[in-house]
Amino acid sequence: MQLTIKTHAQTEMIDVTDQVQRLLADQGVRSGLCMLYVPHTTAAVTINESADPSVREDILMVLNQMVPWKAPYRHLEGNSPAHVKASLIGASQLVRIDNGRLALGTWQGIFFCEFDGPRTRKMEITLITG
Ligand code: ZN
Repeated sequence: MQLTIKTHAQTEMIDVTDQVQRLLADQGVRSGLCMLYVPHTTAAVTINESADPSVREDILMVLNQMVPWKAPYRHLEGNSPAHVKASLIGASQLVRIDNGRLALGTWQGIFFCEFDGPRTRKMEITLITG
């Protein structure tokens, strides 16, 4: 299964928790594991606070400060900072499924992270039941 995600900015975190939860419900999965995988080299997936939107703004601000757009990068495509950020955040997450729900903490959400947008992206979802 996969989600199609349209991003709207060069750097952006999009809360996809509800979409992933809906997929679980459609599949009727009650317990197991949900693996989220981003098959891109300039995007990532992370889990963090979804209640206060300024948390994701702060994360992006710090990433942008850590990985400047202008530096003597060698990659000719010109998007090396996006590749670096994607590796810092990572391409996958694993979440337990409990009673048909993602077993996230109260304040946690799943975020698709765009680092070289806007683009149309994919997130692959594999459910391991049991
Ligand atoms: Zn590149």
